[in-house]
Parts: sequence; C-alpha cells; structure tokens
Amino acid sequence: MSSVTKRDYYEVLGLDRQATDQQIKSAYRKMALKYHPDRNPGDHKAEEAFKEAAEAYSVLCDREKRSLYDRFGHAGVAGAGAGAAGFDPTIFADFSDIFSGLGDVFGFGDIFGQRRRRGGPQRGADLRYDLEISFEESTTGTETTIQIPREETCETCKGSGAAEGTSPETCSQCRGSGQLRYQQGFLTVARPCSNCRGTGKTIAKPCHTCRGAGRVGRERKLTVKIPAGIATGQRLRLYGEGEHGSAGGPPGDLYVVVHVQEHSFFQREGDDLYCEMPIPFPTLALGGEITVPTLAGEEEIKVSAGTQAGTRFKLRGKGMPNVSGRGHGDLYAIARVAVPKKLTKEQKHLLEELAKTMPAETIDTSATENGEKPFFEKVKDIFG
Ligand SMILES: [Zn+2]
Ligand SMILES: [Zn+2]
Repeated sequence: MSSVTKRDYYEVLGLDRQATDQQIKSAYRKMALKYHPDRNPGDHKAEEAFKEAAEAYSVLCDREKRSLYDRFGHAGVAGAGAGAAGFDPTIFADFSDIFSGLGDVFGFGDIFGQRRRRGGPQRGADLRYDLEISFEESTTGTETTIQIPREETCETCKGSGAAEGTSPETCSQCRGSGQLRYQQGFLTVARPCSNCRGTGKTIAKPCHTCRGAGRVGRERKLTVKIPAGIATGQRLRLYGEGEHGSAGGPPGDLYVVVHVQEHSFFQREGDDLYCEMPIPFPTLALGGEITVPTLAGEEEIKVSAGTQAGTRFKLRGKGMPNVSGRGHGDLYAIARVAVPKKLTKEQKHLLEELAKTMPAETIDTSATENGEKPFFEKVKDIFG
C-alpha cells in the first residue's frame, strides 16, 4: 500500500461522514464481495481495493477508532492496527479467516448459532440459555448452576471426524475450497460444495464416536453468578463457553438471558420500585403511621391528616440495587383507600352517622388530588 497518499476511509467505502454503522457494514460487505482475491485471481488492483476497503472498515466499524479518525484523520489511527504499518495483509491468505471475524457483517454471526461453509479454523457457535429467576433473587443476586447441552470437539478423532489411523482427504469436487462458484448474470455466486458439505474435506472412514462429525453433544454444568439488580432481558456473556470451534478455532460464547418473575407487590421501573399501599380512610383523614414493606424490611412512614388517594410516598434508596453497583433506586408507595368489604353493625352505624355530617357535594372541581386542574378546566383554559 502506498505511503504517499492515503484515501479518505469514507471515500474508500463510498460513504459520507454521517454514515450509520449499518451503512458502513453494508458498504464494506459489497466491496469485500466484489474485490475478494478469490474472485479476482491475479488482479493486483482488485487486491489493493480489497485491502483498502478492509482497512477502512476496520477503523470505521470501531466506535473508538472512528471517532479518533474523524478528529485526527489517518494520523489518529496510525499504529492502532489500522495504519499501513500495522496492517497485516497475510490475514487475507485464507477465505474463511476474513469471514470468520466478520460474522455479524455477513449475517451469520447470530447468537442462535452460526453456519459455516468450509473447513479451516472456525470459531464455535454462540449459545443462548434462558434463565428464569425469582424477583427476590434479582434483588440479592444469586449463583446458580445451569446445564448446557453443547457440541464439543470429539476426543477420539480430535475433531477431524476421521477414524483412528486415517485422516480426511481433500474434496475432489471443490478441490478443498468448500465452495462451488458459478456465474449468474454478471455476478459470481458461491455455493457450499455438496460433496463435502462445505468443509473442503471428505472422510473415507468416519470416526465411530462422532460418526464423522468431529463433534459430540455434551451436557456441561456451569455456575453462573447473577448480579443483584439484574432485570428481565439483560444478558450475561460467558466468554468461551459456547460451542467448540472446529479445526482448532476458538470457542463461541454463551449468553445467559435472564427473565425475572413478576412480584405480586412490587413493580419495577428502572431501578425504582412502586407499590400500592391500601390505607384505611380514618388514617388518611386523621393522619397516622403506616408500615410499608421494603426489600430491606418494614419501614414506618408518617401519613399527614387529609392525605389523598394517589399520594406518592418516596422512600429514598429503598428501590432495586443498581446492576452496575451504582447505589439503589427509590421506592414509591402510592396511597390507596382501603375499603372494608364487610362491616360490623357498629361500624356501619358509625359510618352512617359520619355520612350525615359530611356535605352532600364533596367533589372539588377546582383541583384534583395531585394539584392538577381537572380535564374540563384545562379545556376551558384552552378554548376560553
Ligand atoms: Zn470423532
Ligand atoms: Zn467439496
């Protein structure tokens, strides 16, 4: 690569500076497919274009590098593995190498299992495990053992799939590339070789343990630490606990997706908790004390005379622990009127006596319980 002039990375990919991550990926994907050395054998220009695109992508796909590049240009990312000096063209020696690192770009890096098209070292598939925990466990954190069925390298054949004393042979149909190419219009399309199922190798005598697959299904027990404060949908990544790679490739990762059971009393919103507190009418009217259950035990709070239903009592720091260890959220207890379903004769009599003393019209239309104007008042404000 010439050290005299270096093209702008955005220009290389035919993008402007506002390009989204998705646009960068897609532009790079197109260039990579077009200029790939395998498709342009002996074409030096295509090779240069391919390397140039890969270099541009390696910077622009990385948030940090991209922002350095945006501010300082090529000087900002030189030596960060992307500059001409630190750029290693040998990574293009093998078709699968470049693609293996870019699973997400080509749409097969999905965590629900990747499909590989040919031999050579390949990273194992990522696995997903859905774990349900109780609300209480989410508040304190927990440690649990999970059992993961996953594919592991067959120990008998060390993953080759060939019977003891034999080894896999290069596929005669694709000559080891694992792919068959054909022309479709002006495009060259590659399809996995059906003879070797994309591995580039055929096995004359399969290993009896794995029947030639090179891998065997195993149940693996893992201890997972769930941090306090975890919420539904959050996932833990266990590096290297996915499926084994093939032909010496690195293992994938395991994602544990957490589901927290709903609680009957507390509702979670961010790190805050909400609960409804039924309070007897006399306590609301006369004032008094109520007991609010919290994660850390019961708390007494004061209710002032004339407290309205819907009033929120804030208990600072009594919410959920923050999953990143940044303190606790708050707990909001919302006042509700506790209406008894059954009354004794005496209670009924007293209530009737009370009702006689209350004004017939008790609806105050000037303000609602939270101090806001009622709907029709607002409408009057707007329309006069
Ligand atoms: Zn085997
Ligand atoms: Zn083949």
